[in-house]
Amino acid sequence: MSARIIDGKAFAAQLRRRVAAEVDRIRSGAGVTPGLAVVLVGDDPASQVYVRAKGRQTVEVGMESFEHRLPDTTSEADLLALIGRLNADVRVHGILVQLPLPPQIDPAHVLDAISPEKDVDGFHVVNAGRLSTGQEAMVPCTPLGCLMMLRAELGVLAGKRAVVVGRSNIVGKPMAQLLLADDCTVTIAHSRTRDLRAVVRSADIVVAAVGRPRMIPGDWIRPGATVIDVGINRIAAGGKTRLVGDVDYDGAADVAGAITPVPGGVGPMTIACLLSNTLTACCRIHGLPAPD
Ligand code: NDP
Repeated sequence: MSARIIDGKAFAAQLRRRVAAEVDRIRSGAGVTPGLAVVLVGDDPASQVYVRAKGRQTVEVGMESFEHRLPDTTSEADLLALIGRLNADVRVHGILVQLPLPPQIDPAHVLDAISPEKDVDGFHVVNAGRLSTGQEAMVPCTPLGCLMMLRAELGVLAGKRAVVVGRSNIVGKPMAQLLLADDCTVTIAHSRTRDLRAVVRSADIVVAAVGRPRMIPGDWIRPGATVIDVGINRIAAGGKTRLVGDVDYDGAADVAGAITPVPGGVGPMTIACLLSNTLTACCRIHGLPAPD
């Protein structure tokens, strides 16, 4: 193995410490405590784990956490009414509705109902539009965390050839926008891309956000490239399940310059960026200088 391991846990811990220090500063300076409301509809086990982790980490950095757990029979109208109340609640600076939602609720209606300045997930069309037009936006947490790690690893990204595999609204597209804003030459690949191997092989930076276990083998990676593996895939191994990424870690680590592991890479940064976004939202709402 020759690649440096990009330690997402360590990055996330460092970011949480920075957020905690800022929270302390604005609490004592401006008398404002940032607040994050997390809404969970139903009892999806993975969502419950995420929501618990988010609540715990919110409190740990000194913010207020408001958890709303609703039954999986909740109507869209009731959920929209709750979002309306959270939009109006001055203690709440960030609103996150945990996905997936039960089938009777259209996620697009819900995401559009969240006030854009409290949209700490950055999924509202206003924020997507602001990001793609270079305006101040709330940026989706997972790609934001990837960008922070890339900047820390590589310094200036200008001129790098970046390939993002995956074009979802929550990861692939905003990731590509962020890399473009940092002056990379960006290619977005997807399920209809021809000769994906050659496309990936051309990249100085590969961001894999597909959701297919180890679909990118090591010999697709250009020697020395930086690999960010967003994929979280559960596979059966020896009677248990384990998590693997979209990249064949062992193979890629032999050729890449640096690589994020799964778990312990992109995942921990996502929640840390959620806290950072909540702080940013709070500062913007109260007209306070936002941290970088
Ligand atoms: P989506 O399913 O929404 O998107 C997957 C993308 O991969 C699509 O654009 C699809 O293309 C593309 N794709 C599928 N098959 C292929 C293929 N054979 N070749 C090339 N591209 C392909 O997934 P998400 O973006 O929501 O998530 C991607 C992964 O990231 C998942 O494993 C998810 O669990 C993980 N994730 C991790 C997070 C974290 O915090 N670490 C947060 C969010 C997601 P097309 O559009 O053509 O169908």
